[in-house]
Amino acid sequence: MRMSRLSLIALLAAITVSLTAQSQPAPQSTAPPPPANPKLDQMKRDVGLEVDGMQENIQKMNDTVFSFAEPGFQEVETSKYLSGILRQNGFTVQEGVAGIPTAFTARWGSGKPVIALGSDIDDIPQASQKPGVAWHEPIIEGAPGHGEGHNSGMPLQITAALAVKKIMEQQHLQGTLMLWPGVAEELLGTKAYYVRAGLFKDVDICIFAHVGAQMNVGWGDTGGNGMVSVEYNFKGESAHAAGAPWRGRSALDAVELMDIGWNFRREHLRLSQRSHYVIPNGGDQPNVVPPNATVWYYFRETSYEEIKKLWDIGNNMAKAAAMMTDTEMSSMRVLGSAWPGHFNKTVAETMYANIEKVGLPQWSEADQALAKAVQREMKVPETGLVTKLQPMRGRETIPDEEKRGGGSDDIGDISWNVPTVTLNYPSNIQAGPGHNWANAISMATPIAHKGIQYGAKVMALTVLDLMTRPELVTQAWDYFRNVQTKDKKYVPLIRPQDQPAIWLNKERMEKYRPEMRKYYYDPTKYKNYLEQLGIKYPTTEKPAKPSAQQ
Ligand SMILES: [Zn+2]
Repeated sequence: MRMSRLSLIALLAAITVSLTAQSQPAPQSTAPPPPANPKLDQMKRDVGLEVDGMQENIQKMNDTVFSFAEPGFQEVETSKYLSGILRQNGFTVQEGVAGIPTAFTARWGSGKPVIALGSDIDDIPQASQKPGVAWHEPIIEGAPGHGEGHNSGMPLQITAALAVKKIMEQQHLQGTLMLWPGVAEELLGTKAYYVRAGLFKDVDICIFAHVGAQMNVGWGDTGGNGMVSVEYNFKGESAHAAGAPWRGRSALDAVELMDIGWNFRREHLRLSQRSHYVIPNGGDQPNVVPPNATVWYYFRETSYEEIKKLWDIGNNMAKAAAMMTDTEMSSMRVLGSAWPGHFNKTVAETMYANIEKVGLPQWSEADQALAKAVQREMKVPETGLVTKLQPMRGRETIPDEEKRGGGSDDIGDISWNVPTVTLNYPSNIQAGPGHNWANAISMATPIAHKGIQYGAKVMALTVLDLMTRPELVTQAWDYFRNVQTKDKKYVPLIRPQDQPAIWLNKERMEKYRPEMRKYYYDPTKYKNYLEQLGIKYPTTEKPAKPSAQQ
């Protein structure tokens, strides 16, 4: 750890811009220092104060979306609520964009540059969890919940946008803000359709925000996987499973044989691939030979070409399974897709300089106690919440043999169409395995609220840089055109006939929504969602007996 002149300067700079200074030395940005610009510095000070003045709104927006807890394509309340806030603040809202009912764009301002600010809004099936409680305790057993933290991203972007709007009005700055939600990200379900519908056609820069445990941004090849999500439907013939089984042709047999074939083939696939499936339809009851059955695969690989190869193998397995069982593969539907991401160097460097200025939140003892209790519960090192920034990640290309695969995010599709970066901000605890109730614990607590506040400042400062320094937009496009897309062109994984899978999760929500409504956060009655749920913050000691069941 260096306590150097550099960190002292960073510290002083942070104080001068009225942003809460971090206590730790920050790593040095690789970006050359921008030319002196006292007017921009003043605007940045002002925008930081604007964000600080919105703490209560941050908490309300975040907790409200947490309590809606809607999974992909069913973000009805979330979408109505967030677009409503933007409309009230003078944004022009277009609903149902790209043929997706819960998608929208909200625009304010005029002329160039057009800066798009987005973040995901959907959650995870069966991840319902009481916030602030350090072990598994669902609000509603079996219901969806924000087990990734997507409730925090749009509140961050809206906070940043409203703060920037204020400064733009005061300073008569030209430029347009466009806010947009990532619908059904957990299904990789929409961003390729946004691109196809031309939502980003006139956008100069896209800045995405995704929850994490650290404040950071990166550029270049992410090294992660892209993917395609494919549903195979088989059709057979029903029969009395005991009386006349020889007259039946089981569609479930086809599904099982396809899966067995895939699992044998797995040994001979590239190490970077990830593939997994579920069986959403395996028949009705045992004494009826299943006349139809469905298996749903995610095929993940490091490039468009490798994803297509994996998908082809899947198609062959499905055809062969149909042949083995004298059933037919009645349809194959694409339910989602994602390109491997590539992020913009200029925008990332600009953002990282602002991350160094803003630093990390000051966590309270209660915040750290919750984090450590969750880490203890999850049996991972008890490191608490991060208190030190990490250097910016950035590599133009990563050799394919170094890639180890992993998850996907459909922001990748947008990143190949317009210069894009993703801000990671620290609203979560490094403990959960992801897509899990544990990842929801911090998401309606002061940890989330502070992470959003600090993330919104970084976002607002970066947007002001882009609005007032046109050379940055030019440089970003230079990188996009002459480096990123020089030898690689975007070809969507979705086919012309594919449509957004807007029916997904509908039945799930029909089942759970009536009960979930009782737990929607009411900010007119309660200071925060913890108070409404009667949760002491933090709750870290397990009661001797299991607590009251729902
Ligand atoms: Zn996510």
